[in-house]
Parts: sequence; C-alpha cells; structure tokens
Amino acid sequence: MIDTLSRAVPGVVPATMGKAIPLSNGQVIKVLSQHGTQVFDMWAFNAADMTEFMSMEHTRSRNSKIVLGVGDHYVSDRRRPMLCVTEDTSPGIHDTLLCACNRQIYEEAGCKTYHRNCSDNLHEGLAEIGLSFPFTPGPLNVFMNIPVNADRTISRLPPATKPGDYVRLKAGMDLIVVISACPQDMTVINGPDKTPRDAHYVIEG
Ligand SMILES: [Zn+2]
Repeated sequence: MIDTLSRAVPGVVPATMGKAIPLSNGQVIKVLSQHGTQVFDMWAFNAADMTEFMSMEHTRSRNSKIVLGVGDHYVSDRRRPMLCVTEDTSPGIHDTLLCACNRQIYEEAGCKTYHRNCSDNLHEGLAEIGLSFPFTPGPLNVFMNIPVNADRTISRLPPATKPGDYVRLKAGMDLIVVISACPQDMTVINGPDKTPRDAHYVIEG
C-alpha cells in the first residue's frame, strides 16, 4: 500500500554551523525561529546541475522587490523558480542585500583568531555530502533585519521576529539547500544579546 500520509522531518543546524539539505521538487522547508533572534543564511542549488544557483540579484530583479512575501519566488541565476514563499508568520522582514559573513569580515572587526562564518559554513556543508561550489553566492538572509533608510543607506538591526515565527518555502525543482546558523556575535544581527543559536527546520511532504 502506498503511504500517502504527509511526512514532516524536523532537523536542526547547531549554532554557528552549516548544513546541506536535499529538498525534492514540491517539498517544503519550514524554517523556524525557535528563540526569535537567530538569522539563517540560506542558499539553494539545482540538484541536477550544481552550476545553477539561487540568485538574490535575479530574485530582486524578477520580483522588483528587495523583500519577498507570500506567493513570490526566489529564482536562480537562470530566472527559474527555486523556492516559493507559501507562508510567513514572522513580520516578513528578511534580507536579500547583504553578503554572507566570511573570515575577512571578522578580521575587519578585530578578530585575531579564526571566527566561524556563514561562507565557510556553506562550503563545509556542501563538502559533507560530497559537493562543492566555486564561490559564495549572495545568500537569502531569513529573519535578518536590514532596513533601507530614506537616504538609501542601510542599517543592521536585531531580528523583528518572536519565538516560534516561521517561513515555509516550497521547492520548484530538486534542490540542495544549505542553511547556516549565522555565527555573528559581534553585532546585534542575531539579537541584542549577540548570541548565535540553533537554526531549526522541518522538511514537509
Ligand atoms: Zn553569517
């Protein structure tokens, strides 16, 4: 008998770490702000052709928006839908403008020793499942609060989320999704207490 019951498989990316997650066409990844403060850097790649990647530049162009809402699609560098926003219980404040943090950002901020970072988390996560990518695409920064001011400068604020807020994203093709539980602990991007926390998710369908 074919099991037609829907399935939900929960997962967690430990604080400051990254993880690659296969997501089949039509499946949904629910990303959950359990504590209300953690931001998730996310990437997606075409599982059948890893040279095609989710592109924030093309997503902004395709949607004529810098922050997407329910019904909008994050698209690839080839303008094809990769992730559709199907539900968002948060205030809907996410970021598509800023780069992933990397070791140089922490060196600029004064770190004298290695600091974990989202860029390395992407490449480590892919390597764990035998994949690689030659550079770090601009990430989707879920729950990251980067307002554009009237003079077109940007600010970096703590997330506007509350504990339990989540976003559902539906795959438009077979994907490799990567989540980094951003290790940023030198600014308030992960909350006023500057404490990175686990990134929770659920695979549905
Ligand atoms: Zn980061």
